[in-house]
Amino acid sequence: MEDRRAFFKKIGILGLTGIASKLVSNEQLNALETFGNEGLQNAPFTLPTLPYNYNALEPFIDQQTMTIHHTKHHQAYVDKLNKAIENMGGKFVLEEAFKTISKAEPAVRNNGGGHYNHSLFWQLMKPNPSSKENKPSGKLAESILKDFKSFDEFKKEFSEKSAKIFGSGWCWLIEQDGKLKITTTPNQDNPLMDVVTEKGKPVLALDIWEHAYYLKYQNKRADYIANWWNIVNWEKAEELFLLK
Ligand code: MN
Repeated sequence: MEDRRAFFKKIGILGLTGIASKLVSNEQLNALETFGNEGLQNAPFTLPTLPYNYNALEPFIDQQTMTIHHTKHHQAYVDKLNKAIENMGGKFVLEEAFKTISKAEPAVRNNGGGHYNHSLFWQLMKPNPSSKENKPSGKLAESILKDFKSFDEFKKEFSEKSAKIFGSGWCWLIEQDGKLKITTTPNQDNPLMDVVTEKGKPVLALDIWEHAYYLKYQNKRADYIANWWNIVNWEKAEELFLLK
């Protein structure tokens, strides 16, 4: 089992850490008290590299969508987040900030969520050129069976909730008090934020913004969702599920 912080550092959400953190004064750290002080990290945040090529998720997600989504949309969240926190002394931990995000300015909530959610989303997909059946295994599969009766029931509920999101948002599989649950959030909110009703540990995330599918699927959101199951990275989802 891996420590949460090590995991997120590895996948790039925490950005650069180390030397620069020693250059920040106590005064600056105190100014960040609202955001907690455990495992403080330094801005600027950076765009994480995708763990595959832009065309690797074809035919389920096309190269142009992946390129624009990553280099334009995600990059914009990173840039705007860095701008929003630039007066905070370069010390910032997203997961801590989410706990009291209702007190932060909207730019931090929207772009912090945007950066975090997309960083997870890229990791939670993987190429599947053979389009062979793609299912979870191990402990996560066991818990899905326990909490949703069957994998098909789980898929059905997740797909339906994704399809029903009004406007832009995300669909999540979360662990809440030891139980798996499917939830949705509007805009770039996520289950770690104090503003959402259903809080929990993210295990799986699906981007339901039109920018995630419109070039290939236009208004056919249900087709995007149905195809997405082919490229879910269940190994990564299980890693998230097993994190403390
Ligand atoms: Mn997106």
